[in-house]
Amino acid sequence: MKPAIRKIALERMYLLIGNAISNARTNPDLSQHQAFLARRISTRHKIRMPFDLRMVFCKKCKSFIAPGVNSRIRLGRSSVKSIRISCNFCEHTYRKIIHR
Ligand SMILES: [Zn+2]
Repeated sequence: MKPAIRKIALERMYLLIGNAISNARTNPDLSQHQAFLARRISTRHKIRMPFDLRMVFCKKCKSFIAPGVNSRIRLGRSSVKSIRISCNFCEHTYRKIIHR
C-alpha cells in the first residue's frame, strides 16, 4: 500500500473519531455512525487503529464508547501506571498499562 493512502486513511479515522466524540452527547446516532465509518476504513485498508483510537471502542461489545459519555475512565491506584475503561453498554472493564 502507498504510504500516502495510509496517511490519508489515518487522518480520516482521527477526524471521524474526533467528530464522533464531540457528537456523543448531542447526537449519539451520528456519533455511532462516524465511529462505524472510522472502523470500516481501518478494516478496509487493513490499518490497525492507533491505541488512542482503539480505546474508544469497547473490547467486548465493540460499541463506540465516548470517554466520559458512554464510558468511565479511571486512573489505576497501584504503583503501575494504568487506566481502567468501563463500557456503559455492557459494563465490561478493561485495564491498560501505560508504558513510559
Ligand atoms: Zn461494551
